[in-house]
Formats: sequence, C-alpha cells, structure tokens
Amino acid sequence: MAIRKIITEPDPILRIKSELVKKVDGEIKSLMKDMLETMYAAPGIGLAAVQIGVHKRVVVMDLAKDDSPKNPMYFVNPEVIWKSEKKSIYEEGCLSLPKQFAEIERPEECHIKYLDFEGKERILKAEGLVATCIQHEIDHLNGVLFIDYLSKLKKSFIIKKLKKAKKENEEVHTIF
Ligand code: ZN
Repeated sequence: MAIRKIITEPDPILRIKSELVKKVDGEIKSLMKDMLETMYAAPGIGLAAVQIGVHKRVVVMDLAKDDSPKNPMYFVNPEVIWKSEKKSIYEEGCLSLPKQFAEIERPEECHIKYLDFEGKERILKAEGLVATCIQHEIDHLNGVLFIDYLSKLKKSFIIKKLKKAKKENEEVHTIF
C-alpha cells in the first residue's frame, strides 16, 4: 500500500470523466487499498480515484467516528438508481479543495448500485451523511466538484484562493 498525492483544484485532471471498471482484479484492489490509505492519512471520509489522478470509477469511504473501529467502504462503478425528492443540506469539504467548505443541498436519500471489493454487485440504500458523501464522490467520477453548485462569484472566489495557496506552496518548495 502507498500514500498517493492528492490532486487539488484548479487542475484539469479533476474535470476528466472517469471510465467504467471492466473487472475488479488485483490492480483495482491495490488501487482501492492505496486510496484508503491516502484518505486516512489526509484525513478525509471519502476519496475518488480521479483525486489521485486515476480515471477509473472507484470510490472509497469511511464514515466511522474517530473513536469507533474503522469501517472502510469500497465502491466500483457506483451509480445512483434512485434518489429522494426530499433534500438535505450539509456543509461539505473536499480533499481536492483544501480548507474550503460550503453548504450544499442534495437528495437526502439515494440508492446506489455498485460492485464491492470482491466485484460482487450490491445495492446501498443510503441516507444522511452516507448519501451526501457517496453523491459527492460520484460527482468526482463525472468531473464535478461541490463548488460547481455555488454561484459563479463564490466559485471564482474559492478558485482564486486555491490558486494563491498553490502558488505559495510552490514558492516554499523552491527555497533551499
Ligand atoms: Zn471531494
């Protein structure tokens, strides 16, 4: 297992649509393990493969609280097959948008069809934070970030801040 570099906005890599996984083989399993390790180290509660630069429809999540045992969830080719009319609002963050948060409205419940770690087809009936998180991650697979739901003004403000932070980071790294 290895910790991979998380790609942050603005970066065109994050906007590329991820491809369907044909088979959950050893390569995909080791990708999922790397993703989980990267997510725990960040730390975060969800990560899509595109965030480490791999354009495959793979997501990992773990919503266990800090004092609870780990509860890794693996989703290959996740797809929303039903969503509720009722919406809920959560303050979302994203490992690709460091230190940025915004209240985003999404369907409160959704049903997700996916393949698990062993490649077995499953259905998840999600609600609350799980539903929000999996919808956020599926957006990543389609090249969508939560800032896309904000007004143009708010979005450009956040991107400007991230650009500035990136530049400052680069400057730090070039000083010897
Ligand atoms: Zn994210």
